[in-house]
Amino acid sequence: MSPPGSEPAPVAAVAPLVTARAVDRPFDYAVPPELDAAVRRGAIVEVELGSRRVRGVVTGRAQASDVAALKPVLAVAGEVPAALLGLAEWIAATYASTLARALALVTPPEAEARPPEPWVRVLSAEGATARQAEILAHAGLAPLPLSDLVAAAGTTRETLRRMRDRGLVAIEAMPPAPRTDVRVELTDAQAAAVAACVEALESGGGDVLVHGVTGSGKTEVYLRAIERALEQGRGAIVLVPEIALTPQAAARFTARFGATVAVLHSGLSPGRRGTEHRRIAAREARVVVGARSAVFAGVPDLGVIVVDEEHDASYKHEADPRYDARRVAAKRGRLERAVTVYGSATPRPEAWHGVARRVSLPARVGGRLPAVQIVDLRLDGGYPLTRPLLDALGEVEDGGGRAIVLQNRRGAAAALHCRTCARTWRCDRCDVALTLHGRRLRCHHCGAAEPMPKACPRCGSVDLAQIGAGTARVEAELQRRFPRLEVLRLDADIAAGRGEPEATLNRFRRSEAAVLVGTQLVAKGHDVPGVKLAAVIDADQALAVPDFRAEERAFALLTQLSGRSGRPGDARGRVIVQAWDPELRVVVLAARHAVGEFLEGELERRRALGYPPYRRLVRVLAAGPSGDVADGVSDAVRRAVEPALEGDVLLGPAPLFRLRDRFRSHLLIKTEHPLRAAAVLRGVVRDLSPDLRRARATAVVDVDPQSLS
Ligand code: ADP
Ligand code: ZN
Ligand code: ZN
Repeated sequence: MSPPGSEPAPVAAVAPLVTARAVDRPFDYAVPPELDAAVRRGAIVEVELGSRRVRGVVTGRAQASDVAALKPVLAVAGEVPAALLGLAEWIAATYASTLARALALVTPPEAEARPPEPWVRVLSAEGATARQAEILAHAGLAPLPLSDLVAAAGTTRETLRRMRDRGLVAIEAMPPAPRTDVRVELTDAQAAAVAACVEALESGGGDVLVHGVTGSGKTEVYLRAIERALEQGRGAIVLVPEIALTPQAAARFTARFGATVAVLHSGLSPGRRGTEHRRIAAREARVVVGARSAVFAGVPDLGVIVVDEEHDASYKHEADPRYDARRVAAKRGRLERAVTVYGSATPRPEAWHGVARRVSLPARVGGRLPAVQIVDLRLDGGYPLTRPLLDALGEVEDGGGRAIVLQNRRGAAAALHCRTCARTWRCDRCDVALTLHGRRLRCHHCGAAEPMPKACPRCGSVDLAQIGAGTARVEAELQRRFPRLEVLRLDADIAAGRGEPEATLNRFRRSEAAVLVGTQLVAKGHDVPGVKLAAVIDADQALAVPDFRAEERAFALLTQLSGRSGRPGDARGRVIVQAWDPELRVVVLAARHAVGEFLEGELERRRALGYPPYRRLVRVLAAGPSGDVADGVSDAVRRAVEPALEGDVLLGPAPLFRLRDRFRSHLLIKTEHPLRAAAVLRGVVRDLSPDLRRARATAVVDVDPQSLS
């Protein structure tokens, strides 16, 4: 709004919410007098762009425009809060993206207003027909959404209304979620951690790292910090890594905070999502729990942002804008004077080094860390199941209980290899070895599959070797050797079906004697009581990746896995780590639970090599229909940016493996000025884009890349 006495500013700069880089700038529109007050910076407006009606966000107002005949702003459809608008501008600049793409992240979804979903509560079964009794059985004891019951019981709204008229059920507004949890007495370490969060909250914000093994009571710390924020009228966002784990994580928060919790996840229908966003904006929901993108939730007066399991790779968004939710959380915390709390049993070197306040929860609440035994695979011919592991599993089979076995590779075998001529079966389109699944060979990058051959097409030999064991082979072996154990498998092949991971985990929880075999999914934070044994088939395998983060990830994986063994109230757990090289630093330190020592060593190495957190990485990934095209793009980018990046280290172009028939190459920049690098690259890529289109090539800028393959 214009101050009294000055001329109203009749022009609004509007960033259209369209993805094309060619329109990556605000356009001027005329502000009709009746919309003058509403067309503020941050207003979501409707405008005409070309011949299309699109949504856009007002980035500013001006007295005049260079454009002669301005089109008018057509309508005002909402507002992006000021802090989120600033955040979007920061994201566009930091991740070399466009303002429109960044704005799309913080703009609440377009959703028609719908009346709140009614809920059904069972009153009585007296006088119900057989069919009605069946429906009542589907409803259960707790109230549930009407549409859920209609779907679950295969009935209609009309039937339910008739049941209401006969006094069998009540149909009413959503009941307040019950607060069901018990208040515990904080340990001294937890109290200190809460104090650090509250101090930051009350002194204008800041970062806190809560380092503690699984079960050490981190979640309780988050809950208390949020409680304080709520008392002060401020809201909270809790980020959790895996969408499959969100229901569990959300349950803890709902139990404490009741109906003021909103849960955001990718499985929400657009209508439900819209409802949740409205509840958040209207301050009905003050605590938001969700995965990565929940960091953009429009919580007014934000006080606390929690990033749980901060080491998890899913916090990086692998599409434009390639933002890192951990950095976004830190930035948002600064913009809104909120405290950002990171929690992990295995913090990243970046967090260990960069977060100002660090608090450690040294012990498990009422439990001890498991004893870890390292087994040398060279001395025991039993790959994938060595003698000590077989013995330990035998104890579970005899005595009951649960065991977890990690093999971080899907399928039956890692590769198929001709023993006569050494041919390895590879994907035609991706230059990677194919993996054996049942009787088929499959590419883990593009999904292409072919039947398993009977003979080698190059030399005719039928002596074909399956190299390495995948989860499916370990599963088969376990079934064969332990007929009385329930053998369950959890990996991406299983997880592809929706809801499957939860179902598998629930079966595992209920089983009297079971072993769960799987990829890294089994190492993540599921709270399963009574896990007696956790084992790793092949610890070296995680290190055989050409990535400077391989050690860090392997360490985190081993530590997370041993966290699965022996939870509070259980007897001390046991961990077996099989390794070809038992002297590996990662294996030895993980066995000793020596997180600090590992990280200090890792930081020294990073400093010497100029890796994060000492320098930031910016990667340009070029892809094209031939190796020459891909290299040519990388070369062109390098020549264009080099003069502007004084003091930065440029590595490459280096070729990468072919993926889905695209030849790839990348350029790596180690820099102390990532914003400058992003700005320079954004310009260079825009200037190159006509050439890129002609050559059917792409160039993607990735700031803080998480993978270099
Ligand atoms: P984390 O988030 O580190 O895995 P949780 O906060 O989930 O740990 O705590 C693990 C278990 O210990 C939970 O069942 C929790 O209720 C319980 N717990 C946490 N803090 C305490 C405490 N101070 N006293 C007793 N039990 C606690
Ligand atoms: Zn051969
Ligand atoms: Zn492939």
